[in-house]
Amino acid sequence: MLLDTSTLYLVATMVAAMLGAMLLFFGRQENIPALKWWGTAYLLGAASIALWTFAGNLFGEMFSLAFSALSFVACGMVWNASRVFHGRKPNLPGLFLGAIAWIAAAMTLAPEAAAMRLTISAGIVAVYAGLTAAELWSERRRTMQARWPAIAVPVAHGFALMLPILLGDLLHANGGMFSGSIWVTMFSVELMLYAIGTVFVIFILVSERTVTVHKTAASMDPLTGMFNRRGFAEATSRVIEREATAGRPVTVLIFDIDHFKSINDRFGHPAGDEILKLFATIVINLLRITDLSGRIGGEEFAALLTCSLDEAVVVAERVREAFANSGIAVEDGPVDTTVSIGVAGGPAGTEFEVLLAAADAALYQAKRGGRNRVEAAEELPLSLENWRRKTAATARRPQLQPGVAQQA
Ligand code: GH3
Ligand code: MG
Ligand code: MG
Repeated sequence: MLLDTSTLYLVATMVAAMLGAMLLFFGRQENIPALKWWGTAYLLGAASIALWTFAGNLFGEMFSLAFSALSFVACGMVWNASRVFHGRKPNLPGLFLGAIAWIAAAMTLAPEAAAMRLTISAGIVAVYAGLTAAELWSERRRTMQARWPAIAVPVAHGFALMLPILLGDLLHANGGMFSGSIWVTMFSVELMLYAIGTVFVIFILVSERTVTVHKTAASMDPLTGMFNRRGFAEATSRVIEREATAGRPVTVLIFDIDHFKSINDRFGHPAGDEILKLFATIVINLLRITDLSGRIGGEEFAALLTCSLDEAVVVAERVREAFANSGIAVEDGPVDTTVSIGVAGGPAGTEFEVLLAAADAALYQAKRGGRNRVEAAEELPLSLENWRRKTAATARRPQLQPGVAQQA
């Protein structure tokens, strides 16, 4: 099969230009700076290859060198795009270093040292590909899925470029005539595949990032920065599963701020919000880093502790005391900041809903007992089904009472 190098370069240039325009368009539309870097890199790369291969001879030696140097700036931009994508600053000296090294090498090398030139240029591109892969690799822990193509594509690109250097002997197979060499054909094909592969990777990364951002937003409470009910439920189910496997007990705490409606009514909704934030800070500060907490309703919070009921009651007592002594005051005097807390613990493997229901019942007891107190659930239903039956029976009892009284 005979492949015409000029045609291949023309197609590669057009593919790169089209991908660049698409990336730039998408980057502008979605306002993603890294995509603008990538898109510009592709357009610059396409322009430099086009000028170098098709117009280089028209403008003379110096222009040809400048056009080829631009393609190394484009490689530097691809690397910088991955830096920007991870929230890092672009590295400007690094952006131009490859081009400067290339110009220096080209100016010092004898005109007949074509093999050496090609080796150096492939080396520079491979270094940038390596830097890009390293950049993506160092960030792999943040988002775990779909990372391997992001690293594999630039690594494969760098490897393909280094191949003729690694297989040095083959370079001389054509007696140093590089324009007709199989490697030149291979490079142009590889360049095209790399350009397309990279765009695929870029879109995987962008979509992965978007999904992560939305997922995080859907499980967070914007006011306190804690988990919301959904995030808390998801996080707790993972922890409970882990603790059950390890055979360790878990404890659930439910906090409900006392007379919060009255705080809102007297001091206004924004003041109420400040108190919610204050309470969240107290909970976060007094819990261990391994404990989970979240805002599960308006002025209701919950926590999951990996400890026994007795230990959890001590923690709950500490939170209650800290909130009561927070010393919030307005012009008219101090604001009563008190909280009622229900605590329920169970042996390893107890269902989360069972613990939550039991903690809720304990909280109800704390409210009935006068508020600003901690109540621990005395008993735990064996299963949620039992619990529902029991609570349904308790709910019916008051209705039966008048009848009982009449009979008495
Ligand atoms: P109790 O001691 O029985 O818990 O009384 P309470 O007033 O705290 O309970 P209630 O359920 O009657 O009132 C809860 C109030 O919480 C009502 C609602 O306006 C307020 N609230 C809910 N979400 C927010 C919020 O995001 N910000 C503010 N400022 N108030 C909120
Ligand atoms: Mg409430
Ligand atoms: Mg309340």
